Amino acid sequence: MTSVENVGPSCPSYRYGSSAQLSFMSDSNPDPTQVSATFCAEDADVTFQSSDGVLFRIHRKNLETNAAGFPPSGFDTRNEVVPLAETSETLELLFQFMYPKRHPDLETATIEILAPLAEAAEKYEVFSALNMCKVRMKNALPQHPYEVMVYAAKHGYSQMVGEAAPLLLDTPLNDMIQKLPEHMAMPWVLYYERWRQIYDKALFPPSWNLGRQLSAGQFYDDRGMSSVQVYMACTQCGLNVDSLFAQLVRELKGLQCLTKFDTVGNNLRCCSHIRSLIGTWRISISQQTQQIPAFDKFL
Ligand SMILES: [Zn+2]
Repeated sequence: MTSVENVGPSCPSYRYGSSAQLSFMSDSNPDPTQVSATFCAEDADVTFQSSDGVLFRIHRKNLETNAAGFPPSGFDTRNEVVPLAETSETLELLFQFMYPKRHPDLETATIEILAPLAEAAEKYEVFSALNMCKVRMKNALPQHPYEVMVYAAKHGYSQMVGEAAPLLLDTPLNDMIQKLPEHMAMPWVLYYERWRQIYDKALFPPSWNLGRQLSAGQFYDDRGMSSVQVYMACTQCGLNVDSLFAQLVRELKGLQCLTKFDTVGNNLRCCSHIRSLIGTWRISISQQTQQIPAFDKFL
């Protein structure tokens, strides 16, 4: 004998991806209350109401078995409706994880659906939903680093915090401070500042002054007028080193480029001497960024 109840036979099966299926409790009621079509079993013994007013009839046994954070079994809910802060869209998914049927895999869930569901799963300790949400949030990291970072920080998933933070380095600092939960704002400023200091150094390659000599060359302006200019040239191939590095520096747009600094100059066709100058620059910057602790260490 199973200790949990299946969804009542009167309820049509729920198809994930469509909006919550709803029915009306009574046509004669002047202010009809919507009831979830999935969770409407007559023998259910707890009724929850979502923030947008939809009722969900749930079997107490399923709550006890699948969710540690819901009101304890002694809680008298027989004739009362328990209001919850979550929307019907979130609860419709969350409660599916409490019944012995195939759970939503959330593979196509947008971040707008996934993030509040992940929060609810953590809040009510619905363990089956919690793990699925964690996997899906991790998958959403490249597209939604901010949402994932805030979620991961709140629930102590430090590795996920560390992976998300570098993807947010190009978000303007002001925007981040205004958006972040208060306790994360100052740590973010300190973290951001560490990257910014190294970025400033990256703009002045340390190897710039090595292996170049004063040369002169014929230059033409856009009207075709020629002039002789003095410049610093590579001692090996004679290329203008200043303008070459200036070009590379111009391509460093934003702090996030520091996270893939080992690819700087990859597309450049140059002599082995300049290649080694770039290599020294890359190593120096990469070594410095590796010294920056992951963002979760700032929290
Ligand atoms: Zn050269």
